[in-house]
Amino acid sequence: MTKICTRCLLKDFNKEQYEAIVTNGLSSLPKEDLTGSDITEKRLAVCRDCDKLNQGTCLACGCFVEIRASLKKGKCPYDLWK
Ligand code: SF4
Repeated sequence: MTKICTRCLLKDFNKEQYEAIVTNGLSSLPKEDLTGSDITEKRLAVCRDCDKLNQGTCLACGCFVEIRASLKKGKCPYDLWK
């Protein structure tokens, strides 16, 4: 049985998928579209405390939060990243 990991980011439980989805996905985007790592980490800290986070995805919008939080135009659907 696969353990469900709530309040986890993808990098916390599946390094292969993290590399394939997040690292590769972000590497294909223009650098000017990405936030600095400090902003991304602040956003992800909010996600980690959010009950909508489930195995690296946001149950409110279905995104991989590590990708959304890395985008300058990325927004939390509940506007919790202020
Ligand atoms: S993007 Fe917003 S609603 Fe979704 S998990 Fe993060 S803080 Fe929660």
